[in-house]
Amino acid sequence: MQEIRFHGRGGQGAVTSAEVIAEAAIELGLWAQSMPSFGPERRGAPVLAYLRVSKEPIRIRAEVAKPDIVVVLDDSLIFTIDVASGLKADGLLVINSTQSEDIIRKETGFGGKIARIEALKIAMECLGVPITNTTMIGALIKASGIIPLEAAQKQLSHRFNPKLAEKNATALKKAFESTTIYAPKKISAAGKKAAAKKATWRDILPGALVENPGGSKANLTGDWRSQMPVYDKEKCSKCGLCYVFCPDAAITIRDDKYVDFNYDYCKGCGICAMECPADAIAMEAGKKKK
Ligand code: SF4
Ligand code: SF4
Repeated sequence: MQEIRFHGRGGQGAVTSAEVIAEAAIELGLWAQSMPSFGPERRGAPVLAYLRVSKEPIRIRAEVAKPDIVVVLDDSLIFTIDVASGLKADGLLVINSTQSEDIIRKETGFGGKIARIEALKIAMECLGVPITNTTMIGALIKASGIIPLEAAQKQLSHRFNPKLAEKNATALKKAFESTTIYAPKKISAAGKKAAAKKATWRDILPGALVENPGGSKANLTGDWRSQMPVYDKEKCSKCGLCYVFCPDAAITIRDDKYVDFNYDYCKGCGICAMECPADAIAMEAGKKKK
C-alpha cells in the first residue's frame, strides 16, 4: 500500500488531487481511499488530504501519519510546518517550488528522493489561475508512477467540462515533462533536528492556525497568498468598494480617498479585483510586492 499526505492551502486543490488519483486507481481495479482534513479555514489556510492506494482491500480509516510520499502544493509551508514529519527515509517528497534543492532539504530536513516542479508557473500558463492540483498530479506520477498518466487524464474528463478538462490535461502533461528529480542526499542529524522543531502537520489540526488571543496579529496571513492584488491608482475612482468587500480588512482608505493594501495580511483571495468597477486592481501570481 502507498500512503500519501498532501499539504496545501485552501483553494489550491489538495483535496481534489487526492480524489482524482483515488478515482483513477479504483477505475484501474486497485483499492483506494482519499480523505480531506481541515478545520474552519478559508482560502489560503493550510489544509491536508490523505490518499491510500493498494492492490489489496484497505482496512485502515485513519489519517496518514507515516507516509511513503508527501506532496506539498505550496512551498511557503516548508518554512512554518514540518511537512516531512513521519515521511519514510526512503520515501518521496513532491514539491511545488522555485527554491533550490539545498533550501528544500534544509527546511524539510528530508534526505530522500525529491521531485520539484514549478507548478504555479504551469498552472498560470495553462489554466490562468493559481490552482496547482493537476500540475502536482503530473509531478507525482512522474516521480512515483503511482498510476499511469493516461488514467489521470481520463479522470479529468470525468470531473471537468471538455474545455477545462483539456486545459488541465495540458497542465498535467507539462508538469509530468518538467519535473526535476533529485536523488537522496545525506542530511546531518542536526539538520533533521532543526527542521523537526517546526510545528507538525498535527499542530494545524483540528482547527485553524490562528486560534489564540492575539493570534491574528502574530500570524502574518499574507504568507498564505499565492497571488496578489496590484493596484493601478490612475484607474481608481475612489468608490471604496474594495475596502467594503475585503474579507480580511487588508485594505484601508487614505485621507485622499485612494486605497492602500496591507500585504502582511492580504491572503490574495481576489475579491477586491472582482468587485472593483474600474478595473483598478489586477491579480498577479506571487507572494511579494515587486
Ligand atoms: S486580495 Fe483583495 S480582497 Fe482579498 S485579502 Fe487581499 S486585499 Fe483583501
Ligand atoms: S474598488 Fe476599485 S475603483 Fe473602487 S476604490 Fe477600490 S480600487 Fe478604487
